[in-house]
Amino acid sequence: MYKELNTSTRVLMGPGPSDAHPRVLKAMSTPLIGHLDPEFVAIMDEVKTMVQETFITKNHLTFVVSAPGSAGMETCLVNLLEPGDEIIIGVNGVFGGRMADIAERCGAVVHKIEKEWGGIITTEDVKNALETCPKPKMLALVHAETSTGALQPLKEISDLIHNAGGLLMVDAVTSYCGVELRVDDWDIDAIYTGTQKCLSAPPGLSPVSFSDRALKALENRKTKVQSWFLDLSLVKNYWGGAKRAYHHTAPVSSVYALRESLRIVLEEGLEKRWERHQAVHEVLKTKLEELGFKYLVDEQYRLPNLNSVFLPEGNDEALLRSKLLNEYNIEVGGGLGAFAGKIWRVGIMGESCTLNHVNMLVSALEDIKEFKRG
Ligand SMILES: *Cc1c(COP(=O)(O)O)cnc(C)c1O
Repeated sequence: MYKELNTSTRVLMGPGPSDAHPRVLKAMSTPLIGHLDPEFVAIMDEVKTMVQETFITKNHLTFVVSAPGSAGMETCLVNLLEPGDEIIIGVNGVFGGRMADIAERCGAVVHKIEKEWGGIITTEDVKNALETCPKPKMLALVHAETSTGALQPLKEISDLIHNAGGLLMVDAVTSYCGVELRVDDWDIDAIYTGTQKCLSAPPGLSPVSFSDRALKALENRKTKVQSWFLDLSLVKNYWGGAKRAYHHTAPVSSVYALRESLRIVLEEGLEKRWERHQAVHEVLKTKLEELGFKYLVDEQYRLPNLNSVFLPEGNDEALLRSKLLNEYNIEVGGGLGAFAGKIWRVGIMGESCTLNHVNMLVSALEDIKEFKRG
């Protein structure tokens, strides 16, 4: 016989998922109701409104994709790109690379702005790209590049792409509810996020939002969206419209959890939440630097909630990471790509963004005898 599920109680300080509030876990155990039950329809309406509030947008076409952040990415790309369309994509880490891969699969002509990992895409970079590709359908950028810890400025770049007649698409998976993000003010046309990072809900859902400009592009499509599940023209009637029609069965329990996590964000207040992430980051930064860790990203473009740091000289990062996990129940993330084996990615997201988390990590490190301070 298989044993009853009994996982360790971890402290989640990696690139996601983050710790979930007990209220969110409790919401998940609410009894199931039918996904077309009027009570569930009312819950979906509330979730939609709370997603609009947290994205700071009035966009009508705002809803939640029943799949993780990567599916939100795919939703934006498969709906807004048709074969032959030109797209400019900033690639300064894993997730820009993933967007380029999906865009190619859509048959789009992809112009990559390739920058070193840890850097950002500058307005100069975008101007240069617009010289080679003056009339792109879209520009896609990652707001918070979780593979490197870089925070991409968006406001000025938004004007550049709109003046060129293109759409702005943004990956906000790690920035949403952790750092400043204003969809309407920054004139973002297509945005997706995830639930398991700064929102501190379980993984598996992807809130998305589309501007009127993006809606026009959708209406003007000449070809069918090649994905049935992610086709906005079909799924949008499930999350809105006068008459709810069956499209797929929403993950009822995950939506309960999402609703509770959004309530918690709005109780705290978005700006207060951004400030908390910054304040806890400052403390973490000071303590990590005292131990000899060095930041990968320039201070100016550093994400507060995802800290990419080089270990002090002479440490075996894999050994330390496994000791943290197995002996102290603390999860931190390792590096990806060229930074595998070289950096740690320390997440302080949502419920994992507290001084207690910082102190637990720092004292565990001080306690591990193999850890060498810098
Ligand atoms: C985590 C992440 C994703 C993917 O989200 P999943 O929920 O893992 O599919 C996409 N983009 C960024 C920037 C991320 O951090």
